[in-house]
Amino acid sequence: MSASTSSTTPSTPEQTPAGAPEPVRRSDAEWRAQLSPEEYSVLRLGGTERPYTGEYTDEKSVGVYSCRACGTELFRSETKFESHCGWPSFYAPLAEERVRYISDRSMGMTRTEVRCGACDGHLGHVFEGEGFDTPTDQRYCINSVSLRLQPERG
Ligand SMILES: [Zn+2]
Repeated sequence: MSASTSSTTPSTPEQTPAGAPEPVRRSDAEWRAQLSPEEYSVLRLGGTERPYTGEYTDEKSVGVYSCRACGTELFRSETKFESHCGWPSFYAPLAEERVRYISDRSMGMTRTEVRCGACDGHLGHVFEGEGFDTPTDQRYCINSVSLRLQPERG
């Protein structure tokens, strides 16, 4: 009788850092096929929807707002507030790793562009120090067309 050690290969599930999304990369043609013309112009070309026209500007449902291009969860409804600026406004992202920031010097001013941390899609801009009564005094001014609300069930 020979003692054979049965070696089972340990399963090591791939770990991603908490909060950091998997990178999503698609070709320009793939984005064009997936997104509507308006979604494409905002998410991939950095456009801005007209104020007070977005479907989520006055949305108050409880849920999570995901990137419309890649589905990464970006904002929670609890951080949405009424800024009356014409676009959905949040005072913080769901996690800092979910978004990335780019200095935007277009339109004769320096603004901070906010992009999806996974697919690099344009979301909007973040402003701070405006005096809003929120925990961060930041305003993530985000295009509705860059987001998709997943209402909480129950
Ligand atoms: Zn995305």
